[in-house]
Amino acid sequence: MVKKISIAIDGPAGAGKSTIARRLAAEMGYHYVDTGAIYRTVAYFFDLWGVSPKDIDGITRYIDELTIRIEYDAEGVQHMIMNGMDVTNDIRTQEISQKASIISAHAIVRDMLLDMQREVAQQHNVIMDGRDIGSVVLPKATVKFFLTASPEIRARRRTKELLEKGQRADYEKILKEIEQRDYQDTHREVAPLKMTRDSIKLDTSDMGIDEVIAAMKEAIAKKVVR
Ligand code: C5P
Repeated sequence: MVKKISIAIDGPAGAGKSTIARRLAAEMGYHYVDTGAIYRTVAYFFDLWGVSPKDIDGITRYIDELTIRIEYDAEGVQHMIMNGMDVTNDIRTQEISQKASIISAHAIVRDMLLDMQREVAQQHNVIMDGRDIGSVVLPKATVKFFLTASPEIRARRRTKELLEKGQRADYEKILKEIEQRDYQDTHREVAPLKMTRDSIKLDTSDMGIDEVIAAMKEAIAKKVVR
């Protein structure tokens, strides 16, 4: 089998990873894999079962009841299928963001999802975004990026995004949630968010999307001969 190309994009919440990864994947004809959506699906499942994301006994007891599938529609949009149900839209709430950040710290959850993520990368050329893609999931990724921006900028972008969707958004509250998630994601024992030494760091605080994409394409072109 021809070795597939994999581009890892890690970074904190709201750094623009998914917007950029989605566009880059569309332009390059790669599969976009949003791994945050997988953790959100786990959080959503336990939320439905009334199990706290901190309750490791409850999680251990019921985790075998959960099956997750990733599907792609004709437009290449990733859908999360939880026990046969499409939950793609249900997992996009602030509450599930927080719960995903707590539940993703458990080794039992991360172990369950590892093979699923690696399998996609074995079958397709991928652009995969998350927190531990370059460090754990795909340590041999063709190119690794670490996308970041100041918490204030990330909170401002998230506030704007929600307002544009017609949803309520309180900047101060969003900033606090982002800082809390940053703390949880970087301080957990298993697969914490960190930049690997072979990652290319891009601080997007003062960069537009086009600029970030151009920088990434240039870095990819140096490694991938098309
Ligand atoms: O990227 P997104 O904000 O959708 O991720 C939700 C949460 O899932 C993150 O805060 C993080 O705790 C967790 N996550 C993770 N590892 C990944 C992707 C997401 O722990 N590869």
